[in-house]
Amino acid sequence: MSSPSLHDRRLAAVAPGVTSVIGSYVAHASGATLTDVDGREWIDFGSGIAVTNVGNSAPRVVEAVRAQVEKFTHTCFMVAPYSLYIDVCEQLNALTPGSFEKRSMLVNSGAEAVENAVKIARHATGRQAVVVFDHAYHGRTNLTMALTAKNMPYKQGFGPFAGEVHRVPMSYPLRDGGRSGPAAAAAAIDLIETRIGARNVAALLIEPIQGEGGFVVPAPGFLPALRAWATAAGAVLVADEIQTGFCRTGDWFASTFEGVEPDLVTTAKGIAGGLPLAGVTGRSSIMDAVHAGGLGGTYGGNPIACAAALASIETMRELSLTDAAKSIEATMLPRLTSLADRDPRIAEVRGRGAMLAVELVSPGTLTPDPATTAALSAACHAAGLLTLTCGTYGNVLRLLPPLVISEPELDRGLTILDEAFTTVR
Ligand SMILES: *Cc1c(COP(=O)(O)O)cnc(C)c1O
Repeated sequence: MSSPSLHDRRLAAVAPGVTSVIGSYVAHASGATLTDVDGREWIDFGSGIAVTNVGNSAPRVVEAVRAQVEKFTHTCFMVAPYSLYIDVCEQLNALTPGSFEKRSMLVNSGAEAVENAVKIARHATGRQAVVVFDHAYHGRTNLTMALTAKNMPYKQGFGPFAGEVHRVPMSYPLRDGGRSGPAAAAAAIDLIETRIGARNVAALLIEPIQGEGGFVVPAPGFLPALRAWATAAGAVLVADEIQTGFCRTGDWFASTFEGVEPDLVTTAKGIAGGLPLAGVTGRSSIMDAVHAGGLGGTYGGNPIACAAALASIETMRELSLTDAAKSIEATMLPRLTSLADRDPRIAEVRGRGAMLAVELVSPGTLTPDPATTAALSAACHAAGLLTLTCGTYGNVLRLLPPLVISEPELDRGLTILDEAFTTVR
């Protein structure tokens, strides 16, 4: 069935609140290539939103899923446990930043991981306030909508939202006058101390590089200053590494670049090669605080998703995908920088590893230009390159190729992007 006829059926069957970036329907995919039902090939610069880091239908993942689905599909870890759940927790404990003793728990989605991190931090501290940042994105459930900054489309009409969520400014060098990391942290901390009170703060929740909010990379020193404050205040530092995790930024996790050791880390997206799985990992002193039965869920740590996660992690190790992310950056960054040198609509090129973005503005100003951003993305789509946008103002073009993308595919994608900047005026 063709994309147009599928689209007609979709309009009659699927809730319109759920939208898609492209109008084509996928038939199959492999590595960094998607093929739609009309036989057209796409170069994937989105990875299903930073999920298929190991590539689509990665061989080891396919094999592991196939083998597991024949053994058993579900028992519920809370009913009849199995080793795969423990295996994944051991991997998470070993791979996340921090050499202290850790524990993990598994759930199904990023939002659920964030919800559980907040539950655990509140339980462990006996405090309630959660501090989040401007431009943050943490999910679409009731608590995570409250934690997310942007109204449209995530929050509009969906309130009332969960309480005891407090927002402070993010370090955003392009838009905060280039404030230093320590100065930006001092401003945030001043608001926390004067408006909330340090003794009331259960958790500081932050994405080490913001995802949906615009690939905002805080100035150096911002995250370490928050780490130091949280330690002194007895608050739990939660790093939401759902988009930045699993080799995406050139290391297993992005907190590592400034040597920050979060108390809790939330993971999802890239963890399982496309199967739904998410986790909370952290200091055993915090994780162990919750009473027996206080955490869980029917599907959390589903055996097929766990098998996929173990195969993904093995693939990341075997193919050294942290290095792959760095070499993607080494190819992409100069191309994007030279584009920015030629095109005054690009205010900034930023990001790390295979998580790079350009922010678009009206030339000579910092006024966001979402219309040009959308037109550029559409031009890329028309030429067979799947790109995504993001940002509070919808004016950031983000590039998230699978880490297994080949040099020719990467080069072809960048050429299409380059041409889009020439076509769209
Ligand atoms: C995607 C994302 C989430 C939410 O994950 P879901 O699996 O969509 O619920 C939370 N935090 C960050 C940083 C994300 O990128």
